[in-house]
Amino acid sequence: MASVAIPAFEATGVEAIPGIARTARGTFQTHKTKNLEWRRTQLRKLYWAMEDYRPQLLAALKKDLNKSAFESAFTEIDWVKNDCMFVLDNLDRFAKDEKLPVPWSFAMMKFRTRKEPMGTALIIGPYNFPVQLLLAPFVGAIAAGCTAVLKPSELTPACAMVVKEMVETRLDTSAFAVVNGAIPEVNALMEQKWDIVFFTGSAQVGTIITKKAAETLTPVVLELGGKNPAIVTKNVGDLAQAAKRLLWGKTLNAGQVCLSHNYVLIDKALVPAFIQELKNAYKQAFPNGAKASPDLGRIVNERHFLRLKAMLDNTNGKIVMGGEVDQSELFIEPTAVLVDSVHDSMMAEESFGPIFSIYPVNTLDEAINTTKLVHSTPLSLFAFGSKAENQRVLNEVTSGGATLNDSYFHGSVNTVPFGGVGDSGTGAYRGQASFDAFTHHRTVSETPRWAEKLIAVRYMPFDMAKLRQ
Ligand code: NAD
Repeated sequence: MASVAIPAFEATGVEAIPGIARTARGTFQTHKTKNLEWRRTQLRKLYWAMEDYRPQLLAALKKDLNKSAFESAFTEIDWVKNDCMFVLDNLDRFAKDEKLPVPWSFAMMKFRTRKEPMGTALIIGPYNFPVQLLLAPFVGAIAAGCTAVLKPSELTPACAMVVKEMVETRLDTSAFAVVNGAIPEVNALMEQKWDIVFFTGSAQVGTIITKKAAETLTPVVLELGGKNPAIVTKNVGDLAQAAKRLLWGKTLNAGQVCLSHNYVLIDKALVPAFIQELKNAYKQAFPNGAKASPDLGRIVNERHFLRLKAMLDNTNGKIVMGGEVDQSELFIEPTAVLVDSVHDSMMAEESFGPIFSIYPVNTLDEAINTTKLVHSTPLSLFAFGSKAENQRVLNEVTSGGATLNDSYFHGSVNTVPFGGVGDSGTGAYRGQASFDAFTHHRTVSETPRWAEKLIAVRYMPFDMAKLRQ
């Protein structure tokens, strides 16, 4: 790839933030964003900007996370373009008023839902998919007719700068802006009045954002993380396939994926064969070892590298696959650790990297009970068993979303909603849910003037006899 110049990271500065928020709010108040053609134009501009900026985005993703061009296209650039296309194709349908059903006694009145933009949105993104997780919600905000200010993660500075340049040179800057920076900038942003805050990141920061938003009763959408279980039973069918799929779930983006599994609860009798199948899958994916692979990303920074290394250093379990780490490259090898306690360092926190634990269980009951000890409302859940077992797992283990017989497909398709539950998030987006997340569903009723006689019963003085008629 020819070298591409990426501007050095520059924080926006907190003093500029009130003005940026004022501009976005002022533009919303002009009503221009309510026009569907204006929204379509902005979505088309974003679509083409993603294409025109492909070289810069690829270079930035390589620089920040060592993402391969394949992964960057698949999970970031084309991802956002697909979201734009889907929303563009369906905007008229999403935005149309919906007739509301009413009981026969109100049949002469008209009830409908009007889809109104929430207003001015603040969208805060995390580092792991620095383009996708900022711009996919943004697609929803544009489609809904909101103005928006975006705050990319400062941990992926190259992406943050490219996204800022792209949005601010290609889209309507009276409606949209990108603020770069870290905690001071987020704090300054949260001092402004928003009509909706869409936050993707850790539960810890999600709590800070929610508390601050509560002071002004600002609604929040939270897309958070969790300790996600995978359950493999004796009726898995093809164990090699399950191992291959689960390994894939921990190698894409070097496992820095909110919905990837943190631990595999597996029938005791399958453990030796499962480990062997994981090793086989590893060999297929990385014939020359993971470190030499051009496809495997790196950990975003030293802090996260050391966090993951500490999980491995402190485990009482046995490393059964991988285990190599190299700080100079921020490399962590895809690693599986056989553990026997939910308190093990490998189970106690979200891994958010290419490492996971294998936890042997005697029965499906034990597997289900163990998920509850680890995290009662994880973001995702993976079940590899018979149809009836998978159904039982769905019935008895809560999660934001779930994938059967595979790793995280429920969060991978642009037409289906994605979101957490409980402390892994609130609200959802993608597909029509992206539009709905930024839309106020306003109920409107209309009483015909001619119906006065029919509704006269409501007026005082009341007459009980007429009510019963
Ligand atoms: P993070 O919470 O540290 O950061 C997210 C954003 O919050 C960043 O823009 C950052 O600048 C800002 N921020 C950080 N600390 C702050 C503070 N003290 N006050 C105010 N703002 C602050 O998250 P991260 O490390 O970038 O991402 C990893 C986490 O995000 C994981 O827990 C992962 O599971 C979760 N995640 C969830 C989803 C999802 O869709 N549910 C997607 C990706 C990541």
